[in-house]
Amino acid sequence: MSTTDSKALRRKLLAWYRTHGRDLPWRPSRAASGRTAPDPYHVWLSEIMLQQTMVSTVTGYFDHFVARWPNVSALAAADLDEVLHAWQGLGYYARARNLHRCAGVVANNHGGLFPESEDALRQLPGIGAYTAAAVAAIAYGAKTMPVDGNIERVLARLHALNGPLSITKPRIAEHARALIPMRGRGAGDVAQAMMDLGATVCAPRGPRCETCPWRRDCAAFAIGQPEAFPAKNPKPVRPIRHGVVFWLQRDNGAVLLRRRPEKGLLGGMMEFPSTDWRTAVWSREQARDLAPALASWRVVPGQVDHVFSHFALRLTIWRARIDADVTSPAGTWVPVERFDEFALPTLMRKVAKHVQEND
Ligand code: SF4
Repeated sequence: MSTTDSKALRRKLLAWYRTHGRDLPWRPSRAASGRTAPDPYHVWLSEIMLQQTMVSTVTGYFDHFVARWPNVSALAAADLDEVLHAWQGLGYYARARNLHRCAGVVANNHGGLFPESEDALRQLPGIGAYTAAAVAAIAYGAKTMPVDGNIERVLARLHALNGPLSITKPRIAEHARALIPMRGRGAGDVAQAMMDLGATVCAPRGPRCETCPWRRDCAAFAIGQPEAFPAKNPKPVRPIRHGVVFWLQRDNGAVLLRRRPEKGLLGGMMEFPSTDWRTAVWSREQARDLAPALASWRVVPGQVDHVFSHFALRLTIWRARIDADVTSPAGTWVPVERFDEFALPTLMRKVAKHVQEND
């Protein structure tokens, strides 16, 4: 594609963005600080929250975080448990832990200011290539372009790139780079315009080509098959893992919780004690050996299903009661009505709901 073509595409895109760009709380027009330039803290926070989560879900969380922790130093000073608690419902708690760790590094090693270069941003916890490019371009006008699934789809259609994304990615990256303005600080606007076009017009299904600023330039539209691009990668089969959760309750109503190890899935979150999650189904004998107490365990009818990105989980729940004055096993004993005060992941909330509805 020639420089002139790229220039014309960029001009049309930015004209569309000025009128149709989304009004989002982390963009200056609505930012609480009233700044005219995007606040790097807001850009970073929104980008971390948006990883694998929809904008409509993120806006409420974003407003809450910014009201509670108005800058990166305030977030760094917060207790990790408070942050994990506020994060509940956004999924992937590793992101919340990295968010807190990253705030600490920025507050302590960078004087509370996010670095401007993509390379320096990439050194921070939880910031990968996409987020570094997004923060650098949007907050600082760096000449770079974040390329996510939305932007890949738009460019694969615009240029009718054949083949699955695993093959066409390098060409898509080239087309993305061609759109970056070499003068001025407009790279952030181009990036945000691309994000908005992918989210609101060039949707995965049913793209609204009639309202698209690129419809006269778009190769996929010209051949009448926008949805044929990009070609889908074959879907990996999601394996099923099995686990047994132990709902151990004292006769005063308190239930045993424990903290998961810091590393790994749902790291550092609270949970009801459980076996490992493995591909083989647990036998009664195997599960009984891992129960947190010797008690008359009985199985709660039904199961709890949950889907993680790499596997589906099926949990069986065992329930038992013990005297309130029994001190072991170790853990945190919490009455059901106080669960909200703890960073319980969605999965464990499902378990609690299931016990209450099926017992
Ligand atoms: Fe996407 Fe249609 Fe626009 Fe092409 S014309 S970029 S397929 S919305």
